[in-house]
Amino acid sequence: MSDSDATVANATGLRTPIVAVLGHVDHGKTTLLDKVRGSAVQEGEAGAITQHIGATAVPLDTIGEMAGELVDPDDFDLPGLLFIDTPGHHSFSTLRSRGGALADIAILVVDVNDGFQPQTLEALDILKRTQTPFVVAANKVDTIPGWKPQEGLPIQQSLDHQSDRAEDRLNEKLYEVIGQMSDNGFSADMYWRVQDFRSNIGVVPLSAMTGEGIPDLLTVMMGLSQRYLKEDMSIDVTGPGAGTVLEVKDEQGFGTTIDIVLYDGTVTGEDTIVVGGKNGPIVTDVRALLHPRPLAEIRTEKHFEKVDSVSAATGIKIAAPDLDDAMAGAPVRVVRDRDVDDVIAEVEAELSDLSVETEENGIVVKADTLGSLEAIANTLAEEEIPIVRAEVGDVAPRDVAVASTADEETNEVILAFNLDVLPDAEAQATQDGVRIFEDDVIYQLIEEYEAFVTDIEEAQQ
Ligand code: GDP
Repeated sequence: MSDSDATVANATGLRTPIVAVLGHVDHGKTTLLDKVRGSAVQEGEAGAITQHIGATAVPLDTIGEMAGELVDPDDFDLPGLLFIDTPGHHSFSTLRSRGGALADIAILVVDVNDGFQPQTLEALDILKRTQTPFVVAANKVDTIPGWKPQEGLPIQQSLDHQSDRAEDRLNEKLYEVIGQMSDNGFSADMYWRVQDFRSNIGVVPLSAMTGEGIPDLLTVMMGLSQRYLKEDMSIDVTGPGAGTVLEVKDEQGFGTTIDIVLYDGTVTGEDTIVVGGKNGPIVTDVRALLHPRPLAEIRTEKHFEKVDSVSAATGIKIAAPDLDDAMAGAPVRVVRDRDVDDVIAEVEAELSDLSVETEENGIVVKADTLGSLEAIANTLAEEEIPIVRAEVGDVAPRDVAVASTADEETNEVILAFNLDVLPDAEAQATQDGVRIFEDDVIYQLIEEYEAFVTDIEEAQQ
């Protein structure tokens, strides 16, 4: 038996809900994930967490121990929670909308002192569009002036140790968050007052740094999953797998591989799969399923071990031929016992849902994942900025060639989101007078471009 079997659906046939952590940069997403993993490991026993490719599984018993009195594992029949390790919304943004479910549930992290910021709003848009249930983690309560940190305690118990002033300050900040939720069309309240988490979103005050409030967060997440997601979680573990590409990576000895989150069914080392690619669906045969080795072994041995098969929900690396054009954010389907053309059609249908309109004249947009590409394209459409080409992948000389033939100077532009510009492309762009804008924050990327357009327009007047 391999590690990955630990996350096979439990006896009740329910799979682990998949959790994504979203929010503005620096609001504490990474710290929160690290804290959840760290406290789970601290709770002791081996098997407290299972490290997957791109995700971490925390079993129900461990959640029970972490949440103390707040969660009684006997009240739940879900196997635990699977946290996607890479925080941020860019690969996640398209997925629920197209039948898939990379994330079943989300945590929106907001710094209580900083309030809502542009990426908080981007994340809210996605959550709304994809109808993903979520909770708001009102983070960094320990930075409230006068706060006395209470390592790992539930928030109500921590409040017993705080001065009235500190508690008032916290409440003030929490009401600001609730007000900002309301400005954005969400009804939210302190989680302990929320009866129905589907129509009213719970706000959980916590500190990712000290861990206070994390028991409360886990309690709300388990409650949400158990009450509203349970039907979606029941799977036939023997069925053909369905998943989403998180990353496309070169791995020494394996060539191009894809890291996927498998949200349904099984994938085996013998399967044929169909993967969304830049030039349409890729049909290929799995060469190896790779699982990370336990951290302790990594120093001395290779990073991966081969497994024969895995079942949802899990993160896994797939090595297979012809994956060079695979796209992060694209669907993956196992063919098994089905007509390959039907599966190709399924993948094509999902890819064609991508709402990027291209025009004869416009700018070139390149992004790291389908999700981010779609998010940028939507924003550009709102601003009525035309796109001539929108693609996933590094900026290459052929992108420069397209941009250089634009009809206007303001279109001789490439917007590159969260990826590399190949050296040849850089040189070519300088030569052809093509401007490349690079950023890893969507609104900043677009602002930079708009400032450039304004400069040109002013110069022309
Ligand atoms: P991310 O960009 O959303 O992943 O944010 P990080 O997790 O990297 O956090 C950004 C900064 O805020 C880091 O310096 C963290 O140490 C700090 N930070 C995160 N959570 C907390 C918290 O609860 N309390 C305090 N005091 N600092 C925090």
